[in-house]
Amino acid sequence: MTTDGTARLELSAATRVVGVMGHPVAHSLSPRLHNAAFAQLGLDWVSVGFAVAPGRAAAALAGARALGIAGLSVTMPHKEDVAASVDSCTPAASRLGAVNCVIDRDGWWLGDNTDGAGLLAALDRSDGFDPGGARCLVVGAGGAARAVVAALGDAGAAEVVVVNRTAVRAEGAAVLAGPVGRVGDVGDAPGCDLVVNATPAGMGDVTGAPVAWPVDPSLLGPGQLVVDLVYHPPVTPWLAAAADRGARTANGLGMLVHQAALQIERWTGAEAPVEAMWAAVATSVAAGGPS
Ligand code: NAP
Repeated sequence: MTTDGTARLELSAATRVVGVMGHPVAHSLSPRLHNAAFAQLGLDWVSVGFAVAPGRAAAALAGARALGIAGLSVTMPHKEDVAASVDSCTPAASRLGAVNCVIDRDGWWLGDNTDGAGLLAALDRSDGFDPGGARCLVVGAGGAARAVVAALGDAGAAEVVVVNRTAVRAEGAAVLAGPVGRVGDVGDAPGCDLVVNATPAGMGDVTGAPVAWPVDPSLLGPGQLVVDLVYHPPVTPWLAAAADRGARTANGLGMLVHQAALQIERWTGAEAPVEAMWAAVATSVAAGGPS
């Protein structure tokens, strides 16, 4: 039994090793999620953290390949560099130019991106949200926003509106949704079924000074699903304000869990035990533990 209460099989020379590479990485919940899945599935696998300095992603991949590492989860700041270093990318990762999951296919290293699909799987599980035909607004145009915009376009959303502080980046994100993507502004929010904040702005200002909300809460209300990808704190001030207006709300923990669940499935071929993975991190996040 580990210190966080999750069961773990005994490690041996036969244990298959995966890991999350990032910088910094010690705070990452990914090994905890992966190890909960391996334990529940009874697999002799283990997940650890690999602290890889910026600019060293290609070298790390070469080393991992030589060591027979069975798969990698990839986080900041390496997602773009890994996309350029794997043998090939899935269409999802290729379009984003960012990889969060490296899969070993008999020595061929395939880069995938499970972030956007992870969020949609989480919203299906928590709210039964069906993106097909939905009108969606995404605030932000960074890595997380781009993954969400692309996934919504792929899933058949009727419209994906991107709002971002820096206009040129909004355009670069909106095209990822295909013909249903466009740049908009917060005035588009009232007509949307789904509003996703993929910026840190929902955290508000700890000094109590007025903040520039991702979308003014007065534009949100009943019938909408409002998501803040932040999960520290579990309820951001913006998410609380949206709930006060009558919107259904969700934080980003589901995205974290489900993008890891999809990684488990890519690596092992087994169906991920999502409930066990949730249980492994929910308490820690609610208590303000590591992210
Ligand atoms: P990123 O690539 O650095 O992009 C940040 C985005 O936020 C940019 O569009 C930036 O706008 C915008 N932004 C930053 N500060 C802002 C502010 N004060 N007001 C308005 N816009 C602001 O970051 P990322 O990786 O996409 O992450 C974005 C958020 O998602 C973070 O809060 C992160 O914690 C969260 N996240 C959650 C998960 C999960 O699994 N739940 C995964 C990844 C990220 P400009 O383009 O104008 O700079």
